[in-house]
Amino acid sequence: MPGFEVFGEEEKKQINDVLDTGVLFRYEFNEQRNNVFKVLEFEKNFASYCGAGYAQAVTSGTAALKVALMALGVGPGDEVITQGFTFVATWEAILDVGAIPVFTEVDETLNMDPADLKTKITAKTACIIPVHMLGAMARVEEIVAIADEHNIPVLEDTAQAAGGRINGQHLGTFGDCGTFSFDSVKTMTTGEGGMIITNDEKMWRNMSEYQDHGHDHAVNPGGRGGEGRSFIGFNYRMMELQGAIGIAQLAKLDSMIAAQKEHKKQLRLAASAIPGVTFRTLVDEEGDTATFFAFILESKEHCQRVSAVLADEGVGAINFSENSWHFYPSWEHLLDGSTLTASGYPFAEPGGKKRVIYDPKILPQSADIMSRTLVYPVSIKMSSEQLQKMCDALKKAANV
Ligand SMILES: *Cc1c(COP(=O)(O)O)cnc(C)c1O
Repeated sequence: MPGFEVFGEEEKKQINDVLDTGVLFRYEFNEQRNNVFKVLEFEKNFASYCGAGYAQAVTSGTAALKVALMALGVGPGDEVITQGFTFVATWEAILDVGAIPVFTEVDETLNMDPADLKTKITAKTACIIPVHMLGAMARVEEIVAIADEHNIPVLEDTAQAAGGRINGQHLGTFGDCGTFSFDSVKTMTTGEGGMIITNDEKMWRNMSEYQDHGHDHAVNPGGRGGEGRSFIGFNYRMMELQGAIGIAQLAKLDSMIAAQKEHKKQLRLAASAIPGVTFRTLVDEEGDTATFFAFILESKEHCQRVSAVLADEGVGAINFSENSWHFYPSWEHLLDGSTLTASGYPFAEPGGKKRVIYDPKILPQSADIMSRTLVYPVSIKMSSEQLQKMCDALKKAANV
Protein backbone atom coordinates (compact mmCIF):
# COMPACT_ATOMS: atom_id res chain seq x y z
CA MET A 1 0.00 0.00 0.00
CA PRO A 2 2.52 2.46 1.20
CA GLY A 3 4.60 4.32 -1.44
CA PHE A 4 2.16 7.21 -1.78
CA GLU A 5 2.10 7.71 1.98
CA VAL A 6 5.64 9.07 1.91
CA PHE A 7 5.39 11.33 -1.13
CA GLY A 8 7.32 14.47 -0.36
CA GLU A 9 9.90 17.02 -1.39
CA GLU A 10 12.19 14.36 -2.87
CA GLU A 11 9.57 13.34 -5.45
CA LYS A 12 8.79 17.01 -6.21
CA LYS A 13 12.44 17.82 -6.76
CA GLN A 14 12.87 14.91 -9.15
CA ILE A 15 9.70 15.86 -11.07
CA ASN A 16 10.84 19.48 -11.30
CA ASP A 17 14.11 18.41 -12.93
CA VAL A 18 11.97 17.02 -15.74
CA LEU A 19 9.55 19.94 -15.91
CA ASP A 20 12.49 22.34 -16.10
CA THR A 21 13.56 20.76 -19.38
CA GLY A 22 10.05 20.09 -20.70
CA VAL A 23 11.21 16.75 -22.12
CA LEU A 24 8.81 14.01 -21.05
CA PHE A 25 10.10 11.39 -23.51
CA ARG A 26 12.84 9.02 -22.37
CA TYR A 27 14.67 9.01 -25.70
CA GLU A 28 16.02 11.73 -27.97
CA PHE A 29 15.69 15.52 -27.53
CA ASN A 30 19.36 15.60 -26.56
CA GLU A 31 19.75 19.34 -26.88
CA GLN A 32 16.70 20.32 -24.85
CA ARG A 33 17.00 17.76 -22.08
CA ASN A 34 20.10 19.13 -20.43
CA ASN A 35 21.40 15.62 -19.79
CA VAL A 36 18.34 14.67 -17.73
CA PHE A 37 17.49 10.99 -18.35
CA LYS A 38 15.25 10.01 -15.45
CA VAL A 39 13.98 6.67 -16.75
CA LEU A 40 17.51 5.57 -17.61
CA GLU A 41 18.74 6.67 -14.19
CA PHE A 42 15.84 4.86 -12.47
CA GLU A 43 16.71 1.69 -14.39
CA LYS A 44 20.35 1.90 -13.36
CA ASN A 45 19.48 2.56 -9.72
CA PHE A 46 16.92 -0.24 -9.64
CA ALA A 47 19.27 -2.81 -11.20
CA SER A 48 22.01 -1.83 -8.81
CA TYR A 49 19.68 -1.94 -5.78
CA CYS A 50 18.56 -5.46 -6.71
CA GLY A 51 22.03 -6.65 -7.65
CA ALA A 52 20.85 -7.42 -11.20
CA GLY A 53 22.81 -6.85 -14.39
CA TYR A 54 20.06 -5.03 -16.29
CA ALA A 55 16.71 -3.33 -15.73
CA GLN A 56 14.08 -2.33 -18.27
CA ALA A 57 11.37 0.14 -17.29
CA VAL A 58 7.89 -0.16 -18.84
CA THR A 59 4.42 1.32 -18.39
CA SER A 60 3.06 -1.14 -15.83
CA GLY A 61 3.61 -4.40 -14.00
CA THR A 62 1.24 -6.05 -16.45
CA ALA A 63 3.30 -4.75 -19.38
CA ALA A 64 6.44 -5.97 -17.59
CA LEU A 65 5.00 -9.52 -17.53
CA LYS A 66 4.06 -9.31 -21.20
CA VAL A 67 7.42 -7.89 -22.31
CA ALA A 68 9.28 -10.54 -20.27
CA LEU A 69 7.18 -13.37 -21.72
CA MET A 70 7.82 -12.07 -25.24
CA ALA A 71 11.56 -11.90 -24.56
CA LEU A 72 11.45 -15.50 -23.30
CA GLY A 73 9.88 -16.43 -26.61
CA VAL A 74 6.57 -17.60 -25.12
CA GLY A 75 3.61 -17.71 -27.51
CA PRO A 76 0.74 -19.76 -28.98
CA GLY A 77 1.07 -23.50 -28.35
CA ASP A 78 2.82 -22.93 -25.03
CA GLU A 79 1.64 -23.45 -21.48
CA VAL A 80 2.80 -21.17 -18.66
CA ILE A 81 2.46 -22.34 -15.07
CA THR A 82 1.54 -19.88 -12.35
CA GLN A 83 -0.27 -20.05 -9.01
CA GLY A 84 -4.03 -19.83 -8.47
CA PHE A 85 -3.63 -17.04 -5.90
CA THR A 86 -2.26 -14.00 -7.70
CA PHE A 87 -3.49 -10.79 -9.27
CA VAL A 88 -5.39 -11.24 -12.55
CA ALA A 89 -2.55 -9.49 -14.44
CA THR A 90 -0.35 -12.59 -14.21
CA TRP A 91 -2.64 -14.76 -16.29
CA GLU A 92 -3.85 -11.87 -18.47
CA ALA A 93 -0.27 -11.42 -19.70
CA ILE A 94 0.06 -15.16 -20.41
CA LEU A 95 -3.15 -15.17 -22.45
CA ASP A 96 -2.14 -11.93 -24.15
CA VAL A 97 0.97 -13.53 -25.68
CA GLY A 98 -1.24 -16.40 -26.87
CA ALA A 99 -0.13 -19.00 -24.31
CA ILE A 100 -2.35 -20.92 -21.89
CA PRO A 101 -2.11 -20.37 -18.13
CA VAL A 102 -1.96 -23.52 -15.98
CA PHE A 103 -2.56 -23.01 -12.27
CA THR A 104 -0.82 -24.62 -9.29
CA GLU A 105 -1.92 -24.86 -5.72
CA VAL A 106 -0.50 -22.52 -3.10
CA ASP A 107 0.86 -23.88 0.18
CA GLU A 108 1.14 -22.07 3.51
CA THR A 109 3.64 -19.61 2.01
CA LEU A 110 0.45 -18.47 0.17
CA ASN A 111 2.61 -18.91 -2.94
CA MET A 112 3.32 -21.64 -5.50
CA ASP A 113 3.46 -25.13 -4.01
CA PRO A 114 6.60 -26.77 -5.51
CA ALA A 115 5.15 -30.27 -5.02
CA ASP A 116 2.10 -29.37 -7.12
CA LEU A 117 4.29 -27.59 -9.68
CA LYS A 118 5.98 -30.93 -10.44
CA THR A 119 2.63 -32.46 -11.38
CA LYS A 120 1.72 -29.59 -13.73
CA ILE A 121 4.82 -29.59 -15.95
CA THR A 122 4.24 -30.95 -19.47
CA ALA A 123 6.18 -30.98 -22.74
CA LYS A 124 4.37 -27.70 -23.54
CA THR A 125 5.50 -25.80 -20.44
CA ALA A 126 7.44 -22.79 -21.72
CA CYS A 127 7.75 -20.75 -18.53
CA ILE A 128 7.03 -20.94 -14.80
CA ILE A 129 5.82 -17.82 -12.98
CA PRO A 130 5.95 -17.98 -9.19
CA VAL A 131 4.40 -14.88 -7.62
CA HIS A 132 5.74 -13.33 -4.41
CA MET A 133 2.26 -12.45 -3.18
CA LEU A 134 1.50 -9.87 -0.53
CA GLY A 135 5.15 -8.96 -0.15
CA ALA A 136 6.44 -12.38 0.87
CA MET A 137 8.58 -14.81 -1.03
CA ALA A 138 7.62 -17.97 -2.85
CA ARG A 139 9.86 -21.02 -2.37
CA VAL A 140 11.71 -19.71 -5.38
CA GLU A 141 14.94 -21.64 -4.93
CA GLU A 142 13.05 -24.96 -4.92
CA ILE A 143 11.00 -23.80 -7.89
CA VAL A 144 14.08 -22.81 -9.90
CA ALA A 145 15.68 -26.20 -9.11
CA ILE A 146 12.60 -28.02 -10.45
CA ALA A 147 12.50 -25.76 -13.52
CA ASP A 148 16.21 -26.34 -14.18
CA GLU A 149 15.68 -30.11 -14.27
CA HIS A 150 13.30 -29.52 -17.16
CA ASN A 151 15.18 -26.63 -18.73
CA ILE A 152 12.21 -24.29 -18.32
CA PRO A 153 12.78 -20.55 -17.67
CA VAL A 154 11.44 -18.94 -14.49
CA LEU A 155 9.91 -15.47 -14.43
CA GLU A 156 9.36 -14.15 -10.89
CA ASP A 157 6.28 -11.93 -10.61
CA THR A 158 7.69 -9.63 -7.95
CA ALA A 159 5.02 -6.94 -8.44
CA GLN A 160 4.16 -6.90 -4.73
CA ALA A 161 7.58 -7.61 -3.25
CA ALA A 162 10.06 -4.93 -4.32
CA GLY A 163 12.94 -5.00 -1.85
CA GLY A 164 12.26 -8.58 -0.69
CA ARG A 165 15.23 -10.89 -0.24
CA ILE A 166 16.17 -14.47 0.60
CA ASN A 167 19.47 -14.70 2.47
CA GLY A 168 20.29 -11.23 1.22
CA GLN A 169 19.64 -12.04 -2.44
CA HIS A 170 16.90 -9.93 -4.03
CA LEU A 171 13.64 -11.47 -5.21
CA GLY A 172 13.49 -11.20 -8.99
CA THR A 173 17.11 -12.37 -9.39
CA PHE A 174 16.58 -16.09 -8.72
CA GLY A 175 14.84 -16.85 -12.01
CA ASP A 176 15.73 -15.77 -15.56
CA CYS A 177 14.04 -12.46 -14.88
CA GLY A 178 11.82 -10.70 -12.35
CA THR A 179 9.00 -8.23 -12.99
CA PHE A 180 7.85 -5.39 -10.73
CA SER A 181 4.85 -3.07 -10.56
CA PHE A 182 4.84 0.52 -9.36
CA ASP A 183 1.10 1.07 -9.60
CA SER A 184 -0.58 3.25 -7.03
CA VAL A 185 -1.01 0.56 -4.34
CA LYS A 186 2.38 -1.14 -4.58
CA THR A 187 5.20 -0.84 -2.03
CA MET A 188 6.89 1.85 -4.08
CA THR A 189 4.87 3.70 -6.67
CA THR A 190 5.24 5.84 -9.79
CA GLY A 191 1.44 6.08 -10.23
CA GLU A 192 1.66 3.53 -13.03
CA GLY A 193 4.83 1.78 -14.05
CA GLY A 194 6.77 -1.45 -14.14
CA MET A 195 10.28 -2.88 -14.37
CA ILE A 196 11.93 -6.10 -15.47
CA ILE A 197 15.34 -7.16 -14.15
CA THR A 198 17.63 -9.82 -15.58
CA ASN A 199 21.28 -10.82 -15.75
CA ASP A 200 20.91 -11.89 -19.37
CA GLU A 201 22.17 -9.13 -21.64
CA LYS A 202 20.54 -10.55 -24.78
CA MET A 203 17.19 -10.83 -23.03
CA TRP A 204 17.44 -7.25 -21.78
CA ARG A 205 18.31 -6.03 -25.28
CA ASN A 206 15.28 -7.79 -26.74
CA MET A 207 13.03 -6.29 -24.05
CA SER A 208 14.46 -2.84 -24.62
CA GLU A 209 13.70 -3.09 -28.32
CA TYR A 210 10.31 -4.76 -27.95
CA GLN A 211 8.93 -2.09 -25.58
CA ASP A 212 9.84 0.61 -28.13
CA HIS A 213 8.38 -0.61 -31.44
CA GLY A 214 11.47 -2.72 -32.16
CA HIS A 215 13.90 0.23 -32.35
CA ASP A 216 17.35 -1.27 -31.93
CA HIS A 217 18.73 1.62 -29.82
CA ALA A 218 22.09 1.14 -31.48
CA VAL A 219 22.86 4.51 -29.97
CA ASN A 220 20.84 4.57 -26.77
CA PRO A 221 19.38 7.02 -26.16
CA GLY A 222 19.15 8.92 -29.43
CA GLY A 223 19.26 8.71 -33.19
CA ARG A 224 15.78 7.29 -33.61
CA GLY A 225 15.38 8.14 -37.25
CA GLY A 226 18.36 6.01 -38.18
CA GLU A 227 17.69 3.04 -35.97
CA GLY A 228 17.11 -0.38 -37.43
CA ARG A 229 14.50 -2.94 -36.35
CA SER A 230 15.04 -6.70 -36.16
CA PHE A 231 11.56 -7.69 -35.00
CA ILE A 232 8.15 -6.16 -34.40
CA GLY A 233 7.53 -4.52 -31.07
CA PHE A 234 4.95 -2.43 -29.31
CA ASN A 235 4.89 0.69 -27.13
CA TYR A 236 5.29 0.09 -23.41
CA ARG A 237 7.64 3.03 -22.77
CA MET A 238 7.82 4.59 -19.33
CA MET A 239 7.79 8.40 -19.35
CA GLU A 240 10.28 10.71 -17.66
CA LEU A 241 7.88 11.87 -14.93
CA GLN A 242 7.44 8.26 -13.80
CA GLY A 243 11.19 7.66 -13.90
CA ALA A 244 11.70 10.77 -11.78
CA ILE A 245 9.22 9.61 -9.12
CA GLY A 246 10.75 6.14 -9.20
CA ILE A 247 14.20 7.49 -8.31
CA ALA A 248 12.82 9.22 -5.22
CA GLN A 249 10.64 6.30 -4.16
CA LEU A 250 13.41 3.72 -4.56
CA ALA A 251 15.60 5.75 -2.23
CA LYS A 252 12.86 5.37 0.42
CA LEU A 253 12.11 1.69 -0.14
CA ASP A 254 14.20 0.21 2.66
CA SER A 255 12.83 2.62 5.24
CA MET A 256 9.26 1.91 4.11
CA ILE A 257 9.84 -1.82 4.50
CA ALA A 258 11.35 -1.33 7.96
CA ALA A 259 8.34 0.68 9.17
CA GLN A 260 5.92 -1.96 7.93
CA LYS A 261 7.93 -4.69 9.56
CA GLU A 262 7.67 -3.03 12.94
CA HIS A 263 3.86 -2.77 12.62
CA LYS A 264 3.60 -6.35 11.52
CA LYS A 265 5.53 -7.54 14.54
CA GLN A 266 2.96 -5.99 16.88
CA LEU A 267 0.02 -7.43 14.95
CA ARG A 268 1.62 -10.87 15.07
CA LEU A 269 2.09 -10.65 18.81
CA ALA A 270 -1.58 -9.72 19.29
CA ALA A 271 -2.85 -12.42 16.91
CA SER A 272 -0.81 -15.05 18.75
CA ALA A 273 -3.51 -15.01 21.43
CA ILE A 274 -5.98 -16.68 19.04
CA PRO A 275 -6.14 -20.44 19.78
CA GLY A 276 -4.81 -22.59 16.96
CA VAL A 277 -3.58 -19.63 14.91
CA THR A 278 -0.58 -20.14 12.61
CA PHE A 279 1.24 -17.64 10.48
CA ARG A 280 2.03 -17.64 6.84
CA THR A 281 5.29 -19.53 6.22
CA LEU A 282 8.10 -17.08 5.48
CA VAL A 283 11.05 -18.62 3.65
CA ASP A 284 13.28 -15.91 5.14
CA GLU A 285 11.73 -13.78 7.87
CA GLU A 286 14.56 -11.27 7.62
CA GLY A 287 13.95 -10.61 3.92
CA ASP A 288 10.14 -10.44 4.13
CA THR A 289 8.81 -7.16 2.77
CA ALA A 290 5.67 -7.26 4.81
CA THR A 291 3.11 -5.29 2.83
CA PHE A 292 0.45 -7.47 4.40
CA PHE A 293 0.09 -9.44 7.60
CA ALA A 294 -1.50 -12.87 7.08
CA PHE A 295 -2.66 -15.35 9.70
CA ILE A 296 -4.26 -18.74 9.25
CA LEU A 297 -6.99 -20.30 11.42
CA GLU A 298 -7.73 -24.00 11.97
CA SER A 299 -11.09 -24.11 10.21
CA LYS A 300 -13.21 -22.02 7.88
CA GLU A 301 -15.86 -21.66 10.59
CA HIS A 302 -13.36 -20.41 13.14
CA CYS A 303 -11.97 -18.01 10.54
CA GLN A 304 -15.48 -16.63 9.90
CA ARG A 305 -16.07 -16.09 13.63
CA VAL A 306 -12.74 -14.29 14.04
CA SER A 307 -13.42 -12.22 10.94
CA ALA A 308 -16.85 -11.19 12.30
CA VAL A 309 -15.33 -9.97 15.57
CA LEU A 310 -12.70 -7.93 13.74
CA ALA A 311 -15.38 -6.39 11.51
CA ASP A 312 -17.56 -5.58 14.56
CA GLU A 313 -14.58 -3.81 16.12
CA GLY A 314 -14.28 -1.63 13.01
CA VAL A 315 -11.06 -3.23 11.78
CA GLY A 316 -12.26 -5.89 9.32
CA ALA A 317 -9.61 -8.11 7.72
CA ILE A 318 -9.48 -9.37 4.13
CA ASN A 319 -10.36 -12.96 3.28
CA PHE A 320 -9.00 -13.53 -0.21
CA SER A 321 -11.39 -16.40 -0.91
CA GLU A 322 -14.12 -13.73 -0.93
CA ASN A 323 -12.16 -11.14 -2.90
CA SER A 324 -12.75 -11.20 -6.65
CA TRP A 325 -9.36 -9.92 -7.87
CA HIS A 326 -6.90 -12.45 -6.58
CA PHE A 327 -8.15 -16.01 -6.30
CA TYR A 328 -8.81 -18.49 -9.10
CA PRO A 329 -12.45 -19.52 -8.37
CA SER A 330 -13.45 -15.81 -8.31
CA TRP A 331 -12.23 -15.05 -11.83
CA GLU A 332 -15.58 -15.45 -13.58
CA HIS A 333 -14.29 -14.04 -16.86
CA LEU A 334 -11.47 -16.62 -16.92
CA LEU A 335 -13.79 -19.47 -15.95
CA ASP A 336 -16.36 -18.35 -18.54
CA GLY A 337 -13.72 -17.76 -21.22
CA SER A 338 -15.06 -14.25 -21.83
CA THR A 339 -13.30 -12.08 -24.40
CA LEU A 340 -14.14 -9.22 -26.75
CA THR A 341 -12.63 -11.14 -29.66
CA ALA A 342 -15.39 -12.28 -32.03
CA SER A 343 -13.61 -15.60 -32.65
CA GLY A 344 -13.39 -16.33 -28.93
CA TYR A 345 -9.56 -16.20 -28.94
CA PRO A 346 -7.57 -16.69 -26.70
CA PHE A 347 -9.98 -19.16 -25.06
CA ALA A 348 -11.10 -20.60 -28.42
CA GLU A 349 -9.43 -21.19 -31.78
CA PRO A 350 -10.71 -19.24 -34.76
CA GLY A 351 -13.70 -21.38 -35.69
CA GLY A 352 -14.85 -21.71 -32.11
CA LYS A 353 -13.03 -24.85 -30.88
CA LYS A 354 -12.15 -24.36 -27.19
CA ARG A 355 -8.41 -24.19 -26.49
CA VAL A 356 -8.95 -24.39 -22.76
CA ILE A 357 -11.76 -24.73 -20.21
CA TYR A 358 -11.20 -23.89 -16.55
CA ASP A 359 -12.85 -25.84 -13.74
CA PRO A 360 -13.31 -23.79 -10.55
CA LYS A 361 -12.74 -26.85 -8.36
CA ILE A 362 -9.23 -27.89 -9.47
CA LEU A 363 -7.38 -26.23 -6.56
CA PRO A 364 -8.86 -27.76 -3.37
CA GLN A 365 -5.72 -27.23 -1.26
CA SER A 366 -5.62 -23.53 -2.17
CA ALA A 367 -9.36 -23.17 -1.53
CA ASP A 368 -8.95 -24.71 1.92
CA ILE A 369 -6.01 -22.48 2.88
CA MET A 370 -7.59 -19.32 1.48
CA SER A 371 -10.86 -20.01 3.33
CA ARG A 372 -8.94 -20.03 6.63
CA THR A 373 -6.62 -17.08 6.02
CA LEU A 374 -7.16 -13.48 7.11
CA VAL A 375 -5.02 -10.60 5.94
CA TYR A 376 -4.42 -7.03 7.06
CA PRO A 377 -2.76 -4.50 4.77
CA VAL A 378 0.07 -2.84 6.68
CA SER A 379 0.71 0.81 5.97
CA ILE A 380 3.78 2.86 6.87
CA LYS A 381 2.20 5.73 8.72
CA MET A 382 -0.30 3.71 10.71
CA SER A 383 -1.21 5.75 13.79
CA SER A 384 -0.49 4.09 17.12
CA GLU A 385 -4.24 4.39 17.87
CA GLN A 386 -5.14 2.44 14.74
CA LEU A 387 -2.53 -0.20 15.47
CA GLN A 388 -3.76 -0.48 19.06
CA LYS A 389 -7.34 -0.83 17.83
CA MET A 390 -6.31 -3.71 15.54
CA CYS A 391 -4.31 -5.40 18.30
CA ASP A 392 -7.20 -5.06 20.76
CA ALA A 393 -9.62 -6.52 18.21
CA LEU A 394 -7.29 -9.48 17.58
CA LYS A 395 -7.08 -10.15 21.30
CA LYS A 396 -10.86 -9.98 21.57
CA ALA A 397 -11.12 -12.44 18.68
CA ALA A 398 -9.14 -14.94 20.76
CA ASN A 399 -12.35 -15.75 22.64
CA VAL A 400 -14.58 -16.92 19.77
C1 LIG B 1 -0.16 -5.28 -9.35
C2 LIG B 1 0.23 -6.60 -9.87
C3 LIG B 1 0.54 -6.82 -11.21
C4 LIG B 1 0.28 -5.79 -12.27
O1 LIG B 1 0.85 -4.57 -12.08
P1 LIG B 1 0.20 -3.24 -12.71
O2 LIG B 1 1.33 -2.26 -12.57
O3 LIG B 1 -0.98 -2.88 -11.87
O4 LIG B 1 -0.13 -3.52 -14.11
C5 LIG B 1 1.00 -8.06 -11.60
N1 LIG B 1 1.13 -9.05 -10.73
C6 LIG B 1 0.82 -8.91 -9.43
C7 LIG B 1 1.01 -10.06 -8.49
C8 LIG B 1 0.35 -7.69 -8.96
O5 LIG B 1 0.02 -7.55 -7.67
